[in-house]
Amino acid sequence: MPKAQLQYLTDELNNLREQKLYQKLRILQTEQLPVSTFDGREVINLSSNNYLGLTTHPRLRQRAIEATEKYGVGSGAVRTIAGTMSIHMELEEKIATFKHVEASVVFQSGFTANAGTVSAILGKEDVIISDALNHASIIDGCRLSRAEIKVFPHKDMTACEDVLKSLENHKGHKLLITDGVFSMDGDIAPLPQLVELAEKYGCIMMIDDAHSSGVLGRNGRGTVDHFQLHGRVDIQVGTLSKAIGALGGYVCATRDTIDFLYHRARPFLFSTSHPPSVAASCIAAFEVLDEEPQLIEKLWSNTRFFKAGLQKLGFDTGMSETPITPVMVGDAALAHEFSRQLFQNGVFAMGIGFPTVPKGKARIRTIVTATHTEDELKKALDIMSAVARQLSII
Ligand SMILES: *Cc1c(COP(=O)(O)O)cnc(C)c1O
Repeated sequence: MPKAQLQYLTDELNNLREQKLYQKLRILQTEQLPVSTFDGREVINLSSNNYLGLTTHPRLRQRAIEATEKYGVGSGAVRTIAGTMSIHMELEEKIATFKHVEASVVFQSGFTANAGTVSAILGKEDVIISDALNHASIIDGCRLSRAEIKVFPHKDMTACEDVLKSLENHKGHKLLITDGVFSMDGDIAPLPQLVELAEKYGCIMMIDDAHSSGVLGRNGRGTVDHFQLHGRVDIQVGTLSKAIGALGGYVCATRDTIDFLYHRARPFLFSTSHPPSVAASCIAAFEVLDEEPQLIEKLWSNTRFFKAGLQKLGFDTGMSETPITPVMVGDAALAHEFSRQLFQNGVFAMGIGFPTVPKGKARIRTIVTATHTEDELKKALDIMSAVARQLSII
């Protein structure tokens, strides 16, 4: 039965269809692998955040099974009531030691870590200074906090300082916040300059290292380690859902900041904690980062190989400096068509348009992993070249 009160949603979808922006979910029918089957078709997978192949690492799998057998499948409560298990505490200690910080708290996802933290530590009297390309979870956290939000153009340090100068007499707290690696462009934040500005103008400095954890810094310790800024970034967020291979997010900070989040971060207080299997897999993942640094080396050699290949073919890879490499197309309908034809020919690279990226900056986004072979990447380049020529993209 059509419902009149919901007709506007159907109209919106029809609009998307007309603009060729309607997208069906791709269904993964195998494990998350460098070559996987989606929608019945075997494709070279350039769309996963499984940077190090840990989603299927034998040690993570084994620990998940052991934890399930020992502790069951769920935690049964939120952390602040009865849902804090010893394995959750073990994971938080593991992360704090790995990141060389006093303490950490684990959230259900990177999204809730960002949104829950920003909204907990700031209020109406405060102000947030935020990079224009920061992740949606930061933006939502900023909005939930009800603080004033000042956005500076992407990585524009002069503009950022101008904003900070204009706030010199501001009475409330100031938060300077950035992604470590920007998720749609693959470029790295100018963290040394940001840290200096934060110190000069008395801001809390916060970084979201979702795409840098397991990728940048010694053994994947992230952007702070990459730039050797230990002790100078107040709050570091990371995800357990990308390179770490499982699910979750975490915040690293001083013991008191973490204690404060235990008392005030709403996803921590009002949403059930991780199943023990997830916590166990994450602990194993940090062991793997310490013991198998060759995975990160392979990730970067694959990244260099693939990026050089794309550039040699004449693709515009934008600002990328990391394994996230966009191939700029411009028009959103063309980006989606490029992605669709690539898929038909055996390469899965997602088309990305407005509102995820600004209008006119549509692209397909590629992510190589440590587990791709050079042969697979070569084959992907050949297919991309042929399809792009057909569509006059190169
Ligand atoms: C993916 C991502 C998140 C969210 O992490 P999840 O664990 O998937 O919720 C947060 N910030 C950035 C920059 C991301 O790319």
